[in-house]
Amino acid sequence: MWEGGKRTVSVNAYERSADARTACIQARGWGCAICRFDFGRVYGVEFQGFIHVHHKVPVSKVGARYKVDPARDLIPLCPNCHSIVHYGNKTRSVQEVKTLLLTAKRQNK
Ligand SMILES: [Zn+2]
Ligand SMILES: [Zn+2]
Repeated sequence: MWEGGKRTVSVNAYERSADARTACIQARGWGCAICRFDFGRVYGVEFQGFIHVHHKVPVSKVGARYKVDPARDLIPLCPNCHSIVHYGNKTRSVQEVKTLLLTAKRQNK
């Protein structure tokens, strides 16, 4: 939840589907695809598997017949990175957010 509750991360049906989530995590692992954050490693085994999944194809571009391939179309992201991907009513690419992270890190040194 964001401060003030003004912004929320909107997730689509694929991101909410438990089956798609499981398939995505099985294919890609527990860690965030952007910052490698792993809840199980940081907070303990109880939290292993707590990760968001992000659907890479914007729903608006998805046709009615589109079938999700969890390994290809979904990607595990930590809530922080997921929020940045969707921040401000747009959807950034995973690569874009990776670059933001690296650039900010460099500037904060
Ligand atoms: Zn992350
Ligand atoms: Zn998402």
